[in-house]
Amino acid sequence: MTIGTFSYPIPANEPTFQYGPGSAEKIALKERLAALKNDTVNIPMYIGNEKVYTDKKIAINPPYEKDFVLGQFSEGDETHVQRAIEAALAAKAGWEAMSWENKAHIFLKAAELLSTKYRYHIVAATMLGQGKNAFQAEIDAACELIDFLRFNVHFLSEIYKQQPISSPGMNNRVEWRPLEGFVLAVSPFNFTAIAGNLCASAAMCGNVVVWKPAYTQVYSANIIMQVFKEAGLPDGVINLIYVDGPVLGKVCFSHHDFAGVHFTGSTGVFNTMWKSIGENITKYRTYPKIVGETGGKDFVMIHKSADIDVAVTALVRGAFEYQGQKCSAASRAYLPSNIAKAIKAKLVETLATIKVGTPEDFSNFVNAVIDERAFDKIVNFIETAKNDHRVKVIAGGNYDKSVGYFIEPTVLEASDPTYKTMCEEIFGPVLTIYVYDAEAYEETLHLVDTTSPYALTGAIIAQDRVAVELATNKLRNSAGNFYVNDKPTGAVVGQQPFGGARGSGTNDKAGSIINLYRWLSARTIKEVYVPVTDYTYPFVKEA
Ligand code: NAD
Repeated sequence: MTIGTFSYPIPANEPTFQYGPGSAEKIALKERLAALKNDTVNIPMYIGNEKVYTDKKIAINPPYEKDFVLGQFSEGDETHVQRAIEAALAAKAGWEAMSWENKAHIFLKAAELLSTKYRYHIVAATMLGQGKNAFQAEIDAACELIDFLRFNVHFLSEIYKQQPISSPGMNNRVEWRPLEGFVLAVSPFNFTAIAGNLCASAAMCGNVVVWKPAYTQVYSANIIMQVFKEAGLPDGVINLIYVDGPVLGKVCFSHHDFAGVHFTGSTGVFNTMWKSIGENITKYRTYPKIVGETGGKDFVMIHKSADIDVAVTALVRGAFEYQGQKCSAASRAYLPSNIAKAIKAKLVETLATIKVGTPEDFSNFVNAVIDERAFDKIVNFIETAKNDHRVKVIAGGNYDKSVGYFIEPTVLEASDPTYKTMCEEIFGPVLTIYVYDAEAYEETLHLVDTTSPYALTGAIIAQDRVAVELATNKLRNSAGNFYVNDKPTGAVVGQQPFGGARGSGTNDKAGSIINLYRWLSARTIKEVYVPVTDYTYPFVKEA
């Protein structure tokens, strides 16, 4: 045992590699992409100290080259969920007992491994498996994941320092216990960083975890798990399994030791989970923590005073980076009538310069959407719009799934501000714009606030300070992450804690101190040094 109070100061954000022309990092990344494509992987589940393979193999294909096989993973069933829970519970006592210093160093080492030895590996895997371009993969799989790990070590250290005051003759203290039972982490396809963070943040707090990623993210999830193991994470603390969502829910949500779920994904799935937890509430030892960051219908509100180039850049980057498959992606925009024509012209002109294709060709800004199901769903929105008199396609609108799931960046102009693509999450490269009367700014802010059930991100583009203030106030509850003169995407750990309310989730701000409180259960201890020995108080004595 080392004795001392150790400090974990606030870290700096991981610097982002730019992958400029001829740079050493571009060469290294391309080499890693080629090496991974030459190596067909057979990915196991990780349960306790076992690598578990099953007969049910699922092929892993890049979304932009659907017939290429990167490898396969083993799908599990109910028995694997059960085994993962048992392995987690078996690891619990040892993990809880390990000092915070040693736990912290596991995650700091994992961050360092990702920053150095595994950097190109995790970035290349995210490009291949999830179809991100080099920059999108870099800011996600390398930088954000590294930041999550390092900042959470700092934040948790700050929580552990928080202690109550004590009156003379006694001591009060708070012990920051992990939850009683296991935590279930269920992660989405679109961010490698989120997948790593959902399981690691709960584990860091001393919890044991069953982690189920989206099938389309297993390729990079496997590397995260390897990094955690290499960093010294004891067996069973995080168990990685690949099972169908409802099968997972059936076993976990009826288990006596279910202590919480850390979810990121769609609103519908989260609602199903919450309902099922509610129905099973009497089965649990403790009230489970339910944390979910869910869907969005993120807006860009442009004021008549806006700089046109700022507005267009916010729309292009906000709506089309990673093919609009970010929960924060701009998907509805409100253009003031005085500059709408100029913004539309510039937008269409800019989109004409964007290349769509494989991320292995670094000149492509837009790549394929994640899978056929997503492709078909997005195409359906586009085709329905083409046949509706309330909408015009002003850019894009074409698609092709013969080689990969490619959809052109598409802009729809709706004459009806409640048209479905102004309200529903599409999760693809489709932006709908609505032109409003530039003199009806305040009424339009009301429209922005009431149009969709979500409240994740939003942006105001304006040079007029009064307009900025009005939007900030009127849209207070319309977004958990609000941007002034910027795109509504690209939150950075430690800088813009991320999450939304209403239909967008419990707003527990992943990668911030707020989130970590959810994986802790405080015990208050009061100790009296010289206890009283007489039950009476002075007031009972009359003389
Ligand atoms: P999804 O809801 O389809 O899947 C998320 C996870 O839930 C996957 O692991 C999936 O297998 C699992 N799942 C599905 N059905 C389940 C069930 N019945 N029981 C238990 N688990 C189940 O989401 P996705 O397509 O992977 O990701 C896109 C969605 O995630 C979008 O709605 C997006 O807005 C949201 N998202 C939100 C944030 C945020 O921070 N708010 C971040 C990223 C993604």
